[in-house]
Amino acid sequence: MIEILPQATTKYSLDYYATDPIFSAPVADLKSDARNVAPRLRGRTIWMVNSTARGGGVAEMLPSLISLTNNLGISVRWAVIRSDRPEFFLLTKRIHNLIHGDTGSGSELGAEDAMLYEAVNRQNAESFKKELKPDDILIIHDPQPLPMGQMLARELGLPAVWRCHIGLDRRIDATKTAWRFLRPYLDGYRRTIFSAPEYVPDYCADRSTIIHPAIDPLSHKNQELSVNKLTGILCNSGLQPEYEPVVTPDYRSRVSLLGDDGSYVAPEELGLLFRPLVLQVSRWDRLKGWDPLLEGFVRLKNRTIKSNGTNKTRRKQNRLRLSRLVLAGPDPRAIADDPEGMQVLNQIRERYMSLDPGLRSDIAIILLPMESHKENALIVNALQRCAHIIVQNSLQEGFGLSVTEAMWKRKAVLGTHACGIRQQIRDGRDGLLVLKPEDPDEIADKLSQLLNNSVACYNMGRSAQRRVYDEFLIFRQISGYLRLLDSIL
Ligand code: UDP
Repeated sequence: MIEILPQATTKYSLDYYATDPIFSAPVADLKSDARNVAPRLRGRTIWMVNSTARGGGVAEMLPSLISLTNNLGISVRWAVIRSDRPEFFLLTKRIHNLIHGDTGSGSELGAEDAMLYEAVNRQNAESFKKELKPDDILIIHDPQPLPMGQMLARELGLPAVWRCHIGLDRRIDATKTAWRFLRPYLDGYRRTIFSAPEYVPDYCADRSTIIHPAIDPLSHKNQELSVNKLTGILCNSGLQPEYEPVVTPDYRSRVSLLGDDGSYVAPEELGLLFRPLVLQVSRWDRLKGWDPLLEGFVRLKNRTIKSNGTNKTRRKQNRLRLSRLVLAGPDPRAIADDPEGMQVLNQIRERYMSLDPGLRSDIAIILLPMESHKENALIVNALQRCAHIIVQNSLQEGFGLSVTEAMWKRKAVLGTHACGIRQQIRDGRDGLLVLKPEDPDEIADKLSQLLNNSVACYNMGRSAQRRVYDEFLIFRQISGYLRLLDSIL
């Protein structure tokens, strides 16, 4: 049944951002964009609908988007579709994978799938109806609630917009299957929004808008952290032993680490504050390229062990020798719409267990608690700030907010040519891109290139932050939605 989430409020109001010397100009632009639209939206509620309140890029963006748009005098609420049928989420995950060109979990979508898809959406639509007023507007995110938007648009006459966060920049059998399946449910939608022009299916071309995802620079995930606060987060979450007492209390749930015996344990010293960290934080999804990244790091280490450093290269050798790979993701049991997570994690675990103990000690596989959104976000923030290099080795990526977050923190980012990442990182300027994310040797080469060149890392990080400031901050995203709403009013 549909769940209406409590009104999202961010820690800071839009006016607070406006008083910040860094954000005053983008906020002024946003306010000017809102001046005409806000009065026309008075009395209406804009409903953002998706399938999870936690985990993944959409759930990451919605709270700030909703809260800051409300600050403009526009009413926005958040509803999440629910189902007690796990097969529904398996189906929508299959659709998701097919849109990304991946047939790993099945290559067909048939009449039975359509029945399940519609039945769950019908149930949610019925329970949602009583919340809706005649002038409301629906913005439906991703495929899971897509049929529900159509049902409500047809039955209540509400304007509906579909916001698709995923896509592939090629047309192949898998993507065609998915888009053929989804096509009938798009009838009745006034507009569609995609993250890149390459993603737009032909039949949506005449009603599509591109809006880039974006980050909130003052959210728990992205706010600056003082050294004290950062250390406190590491200690409170269990990522760092407390050598001295810390002011704040332990988190409700703490991180767990894949231990030597294959079970998940409380970590001891991981060297997060000392060692050059190579970090990837993502969902445990095959398309995030975990396995080749792990393999690439293992090859990098093996090469380092074999080579003899001269005096001149000793510092570089040390950096390579001391580097530690941290793979972090959510506890897969906590994510409702991500049934494959555990499977992917188990595969990583198997490879990890097969490594020499020496290599294993250079790799930390960490599960992050999901009970508290704030605590999870602070942990990700702290980990990203500890990292020397942040990797996003995605085979496919709709956009990749984790890349945006890393760029905002001025990190050297190693991404891939996946369309979403390519939208953000200009290769060699704002970070580096691997051509073949499934090739561990290329990953090892690029990691070594970055670990060996601190000046290049610094310059890329600097340029990366500027790029996010110019293109991928929340203010610009809200303006995009306002323009779109204006066009359908
Ligand atoms: N993320 C998180 N905790 C985790 C793993 C990921 O908060 O344990 C966040 C990450 O910081 C990013 C989002 O989840 O904000 C992932 O969004 P992205 O667009 O990178 O990928 P998606 O998961 O939507 O495919």
